[in-house]
Amino acid sequence: MQTLIIDSATVSELLSMTECITAMERAFRALQAGDAVQPLRAVAWPPDARGGIAAMPAYLGGPAVMGAKVITVFPANRSAGLESHQGVVLLFDTENGSLKAIVDASAITAIRTAAVSGLATRLLARADATDLAILGAGTQAVTHLEAMRSVRDIRTVRVWSRTLEQSRRFAHEQSQQHGIPIVAVDSASEAVSDASIVCTVTASKTPVLEGAWLRAGTHVNAVGASVPSARELDSRAVAMSNIFVDRLESALHESGDILIAQAEGAIDGDRIKGELGAVLTGEISGRDSASEITLFKSLGLAIEDLAAAQIVVEKATAKRRGHDVDI
Ligand code: NDP
Repeated sequence: MQTLIIDSATVSELLSMTECITAMERAFRALQAGDAVQPLRAVAWPPDARGGIAAMPAYLGGPAVMGAKVITVFPANRSAGLESHQGVVLLFDTENGSLKAIVDASAITAIRTAAVSGLATRLLARADATDLAILGAGTQAVTHLEAMRSVRDIRTVRVWSRTLEQSRRFAHEQSQQHGIPIVAVDSASEAVSDASIVCTVTASKTPVLEGAWLRAGTHVNAVGASVPSARELDSRAVAMSNIFVDRLESALHESGDILIAQAEGAIDGDRIKGELGAVLTGEISGRDSASEITLFKSLGLAIEDLAAAQIVVEKATAKRRGHDVDI
């Protein structure tokens, strides 16, 4: 039995943002319909190590796909010119369990995470939201800019990052790429104060976004913090928002943004309004007013990786891309 191996460049070439947003919608609808098996991820984060490793298995129905992402997270890698997230997505045959494909996970993660934020923004942001703030200037900042432009008519972009040089480089490169003005600013509050959409995509463990800076009607995608001990939002930002999540179980086990706000008494356990899938099916409403602040807390699910990798494998097979090997 042959296994198809697909590298990062091929993933980026074959998986467009708009197509991935559509695939994420399908995946969340399947999850909502019970046509998916999505356990919590297993994470090993050695106390003295510079990084950790996560195993993320899942099954997603129609068309059926079974597999797992195995990924390391080394937050300091950027300074060495390496991706902070490296690994593979493994796809297995649902009839006989054989290994069908091994797909680079850095590119899949970069694109599918932003695509889910794009879906959340399409569902939850005001229709007239045009002013974007991005906190963070790494891999996710790049793909989130593309995702936000895919679902809203973004006119202004302000970017803040811990290292001003990084945000300046991001602003220069991305304004050339997208042909819109992007300004690197000195402080997160300056980036956020006029924004109608905010994406937090940093590896910070402590808040980079304060509720005091948010104006009425803003939509926030909180993406960077995925462990209970880390958060990007202060408790006020969480408490003043209507909160939506990718998966309730993940949010209540993995999200420092939610769990620390709960521990500080800022929100109750039942303050999360619901999952993206329920908004998609209309089981819960999304944005109810122009003035409310909506918050999408992203943790990242294996079904997202499988759905994205499935598209890449289908296209690669049709175009005879990638390499077949006998494992
Ligand atoms: P990168 O390493 O490419 O970029 C990290 C960014 O975070 C940089 O802009 C860096 O700033 C900033 N940063 C790092 N440490 C701090 C800090 N202590 N305070 C403030 N800013 C900091 O990572 P990615 O873009 O790939 O990922 C960003 C975050 O998103 C990570 O935390 C990652 O784990 C998370 N993530 C979440 C996913 C999900 O599904 N929810 C999926 C994938 C990633 P600078 O370079 O200016 O110093």
